[in-house]
Amino acid sequence: MMIDYRSATFQTSVPDASLAPDDSGAEVAFAGRSNAGKSSALNTLTDQKALARISKTPGRTQQINFFLLDSGHRLVDLPGYGFAKVPQAMKDRWQRNMADYLQSRASLRGLIMLMDCRHPLTDYDQQMLRWCADVDLRVHVLLTKADKLKRGPASNNLLAVRKRLPEFHPHASVQLFSSLKKTGVDEARRILDSWLTE
Ligand code: GDP
Repeated sequence: MMIDYRSATFQTSVPDASLAPDDSGAEVAFAGRSNAGKSSALNTLTDQKALARISKTPGRTQQINFFLLDSGHRLVDLPGYGFAKVPQAMKDRWQRNMADYLQSRASLRGLIMLMDCRHPLTDYDQQMLRWCADVDLRVHVLLTKADKLKRGPASNNLLAVRKRLPEFHPHASVQLFSSLKKTGVDEARRILDSWLTE
């Protein structure tokens, strides 16, 4: 790997995109339905037990969290989406905030989308993929919790998602991932490396 993901440190949390840190260097953002396994994936990819714990702190779940890999490279944890019970005003705010960030962030090189491998491509996921396509942002999907399925069904789901992705995004890629079993880690880090260092 060209980048040492283990050296990730928490940089800052901001309530909206306009307050994000200096828009220089390169960053890759992580997005997904809440509970999809985003925090676990960030911890697994950086080989840290509690890096993304900050994202779970009450009051911070709607914030954008920045992690420094080294002076020029960042990982960004976007607020989870798809809560059934949050007020409409909060959903609207989330939507504005995400649209702002995805459209305006010059250092953003791509989006890693987390989807539970048993429930991929929810309506929210489809919307997120379309937004990224609209602003010409690359997407790589991690089908998380792959350990919850046997090998056959997991690979069937992978193929089914791979086949459907072009309906929503012209060139999104997808892989299986498990934080529990640490599978798919090198494959995901290779994508991060290529996006961050090109
Ligand atoms: P987030 O809300 O997207 O940040 O999701 P979390 O990372 O907090 O994970 C949500 C739940 O799924 C937690 O109970 C995790 O322990 C569980 N989980 C996350 N990743 C995996 C995985 O790879 N395998 C299994 N079996 N469970 C996982």
